[in-house]
Amino acid sequence: MRWFTYDGIPPNFFQISPLGVEKEFKGPSVFHLRGKEERPYVISTLLHGNETTGFFALQKFLEKYWDSETRLPRSLVIVLGNPKAASKSKRHMDDQPDFNRIWGKGNTEWHELAKDLLHKIEELNPLACVDIHNTSGNNPKYGCVSQTDPLTLKLAGLFHSPLIYVTEPSEVFMMATSKYCPSVTLECGKPGDMEALNSVVEYLNELIETTPDHLPEYNGDIYKTVARMKIPEGSWIDFIGKFDQEVNFSFIPQIEKLNFNNVPKGQVLAKVNSPNLIKVLDNQDNDIADEYFETFEDQMIFKREAFPSMLSTSIEVVKSDVLGYLMEKIELKS
Ligand SMILES: [Zn+2]
Repeated sequence: MRWFTYDGIPPNFFQISPLGVEKEFKGPSVFHLRGKEERPYVISTLLHGNETTGFFALQKFLEKYWDSETRLPRSLVIVLGNPKAASKSKRHMDDQPDFNRIWGKGNTEWHELAKDLLHKIEELNPLACVDIHNTSGNNPKYGCVSQTDPLTLKLAGLFHSPLIYVTEPSEVFMMATSKYCPSVTLECGKPGDMEALNSVVEYLNELIETTPDHLPEYNGDIYKTVARMKIPEGSWIDFIGKFDQEVNFSFIPQIEKLNFNNVPKGQVLAKVNSPNLIKVLDNQDNDIADEYFETFEDQMIFKREAFPSMLSTSIEVVKSDVLGYLMEKIELKS
């Protein structure tokens, strides 16, 4: 496993879709585009192969810098994380780990691949790292940060407000790169969301002209993930919202509508066939499900007001990762 590195934008970059990235560039790829100012921005995408907005946004943004006299105002390092998964429209291949969970401790060949890029990034001393993703659930676009220093907030605030502050999982690209420079994740709704795609292009157009310290101050709200909701191993689930002897949790079909909304106490999350709750793990991995949920007859309901995000109806995602997150607003000490 290694990175395939390219100087400049390979010409065929503009002719292919994410499905063709593996065939064209052979594997995980890094393009180094030299601009007038040497210190680069690092822009990564396709760490999750089926999250395509970043790729299409880069094609659109870079168009004017290809085959013309227009030179990039500053250098760019483009990272295409998992072309193999992209070629199959999958988050990751079955024999691969999740490429946005390999940036922490570990000794697999995937961790080595990650470390290799982190060394490069450290050497490059970038102005900032921007990692572009989509959400599997029906979420609005939002910016994600793992630090709350002014530069990081400006960098994410340029994309959208409110911001989401996360510290878990800790093995993500943003967390690892935030050791070297301001680092943010742009979450762009579901793949194919054109409004989000255009706002990434606009974001990159603005960012490339300036440095993070010259961006406007961020004064919007910041929400923090306080817990992640998971399905107990071996559970049967669906998203029909009907009681069923065979299905442990039948979540309400409109579950994604709860994302980024204040959900009132008493809201139904699922029909259930036992008093067992889903898992709600706080940042120390304590199960705090009974603080948030209770069962009432054949329903699992919210026991208190909550602010969920990333709730997804993709059974694959829910089983392998999370059902969603629970958030609370944070106040920054000034
Ligand atoms: Zn992702």
